[in-house]
Amino acid sequence: MKIISPIQGEVLKEINEDTYESLSKKYEAACIAQKKWKEIPLKNKTQVLEKFCELTEKHKDTLARDLTLEMGKPLKESHQELKSSRARIKFFIEQAEKYLSPGLQKDDGRTQDILELDPLGVIANISAWNYPYNIGANVWAPALLTGNAILYKPSEFATLTGLHIEKLFLEAGLPEGVFTTVVGGGAIGIALCEMPLDGYFFVGSYKTGKAIAENVSKKLVPVGLELGGNDPLYVTDEVKDLNEVVDSALEGVFYNNGQSCCAVKRIYVHKNKYEVFIHAFTEKAKALKVGNPLDESNQQGALARVSHLTYLEELIQDAQKKGAKLLAGGRRILEGSQGEDLSKGAFFEPTVLGSVTHQMRIMKEEPFGPVIGVMSVQDDAEAIRYMNDTEYGLTAAVYSSNIERAKSILKQVESGTAYINCCDRVTAYLPWNGRKHSGLRGTLSFLGFYEFVQPRGWQIRN
Ligand code: NAD
Repeated sequence: MKIISPIQGEVLKEINEDTYESLSKKYEAACIAQKKWKEIPLKNKTQVLEKFCELTEKHKDTLARDLTLEMGKPLKESHQELKSSRARIKFFIEQAEKYLSPGLQKDDGRTQDILELDPLGVIANISAWNYPYNIGANVWAPALLTGNAILYKPSEFATLTGLHIEKLFLEAGLPEGVFTTVVGGGAIGIALCEMPLDGYFFVGSYKTGKAIAENVSKKLVPVGLELGGNDPLYVTDEVKDLNEVVDSALEGVFYNNGQSCCAVKRIYVHKNKYEVFIHAFTEKAKALKVGNPLDESNQQGALARVSHLTYLEELIQDAQKKGAKLLAGGRRILEGSQGEDLSKGAFFEPTVLGSVTHQMRIMKEEPFGPVIGVMSVQDDAEAIRYMNDTEYGLTAAVYSSNIERAKSILKQVESGTAYINCCDRVTAYLPWNGRKHSGLRGTLSFLGFYEFVQPRGWQIRN
């Protein structure tokens, strides 16, 4: 398998993909390792995760550089990701004792009712490339602390990172076989689904998530799905500082080149604020500096896949054909601001489309790139109708100085996360879960532990 950088199109490394045979060996080793790992006291498990965090800090320059090289995000964002993945792991370390020792529930003098939480066993974590450390930590930290072993299949676009993670876990003292990276693309993902694992935790697109859920359904084991989003943002006519709203929306749309599950994918603006908003937003989008993500003066790097650029072009053409106005961007970038050749990379201009409608694909699909449609709405009722006009339900954002008004709007929108005066952010303290086609079950918060356990109720009479 060739690891190709989306920056210059160069081959970074060639790696052998796993085969069905090598996968079976990894699975057998994981079964043996898990039986020992589950018996290790929680205190020792947390020490391994603490050490893992120390190591990601110690090696941050190499890890961030490799992440940037293989998926194109700005170096600064790779560092930010490493930092936030540590914060997530530390959250689980700090909460573990409290949530993982339920114990005695009732004792009536004759019978004791005791609740115990057993691990699921050996689980698969099949993952996406856009935030391998963050979306990975959401799964590994609670799964390891609850005594599971993990077969981790990073995306084929984040394999180097996946291999780094396995190495760091071993260096942190995790026994061999407890965390194993599996190398390959969709075919190896399918092979994992066909093995007798005890649970599946998937992060990726709705299409793949649905295929995995169907594939493993016969096994009747837990399947967690964190899928795509078509996240709306609504600016009401009651905002204190429209400039701040523009800056916040701009980051929500273009951070990581729009390749975040919770990136803002559609903007609705109350008609009284539309003209001012669209003007300021477009000017700021045009001013974003795009180029080699290793050069820290660039705000946007490459997308992860060159092939995705064709999809973005199709969305833009579809919108323009149906009457949208191209206000900024719209094309591939072949040359950087300092004249450097970017023609072999996956670079795309930050793109803003005005006069959009819900007949256009840009407002209905997940662009997963630096392309946004902005639409004027008459009132809150119309905004709510459009916000709900999607198959997805991951996040939704409303900007208003009237918090009660914003809450009332968001309560009528189907989404797992509701943002007021902020967007495109994740906190370890709240569950990360999507409604409709955005997912099933979820990770993070104290609830995130319970995705990886099966309860046993002891009823003991002495
Ligand atoms: P993808 O669905 O193409 O691939 C995800 C993983 O599934 C990869 O490891 C891939 O090799 C594997 N895979 C592909 N086909 C498979 C099959 N048939 N069986 C088993 N495994 C298979 O998604 P992607 O392009 O890597 O990621 C982008 C998507 O992920 C977007 O939709 C994004 O919104 C979503 N995402 C969601 C979250 C969340 O928390 N909800 C977070 C990050 C990304």
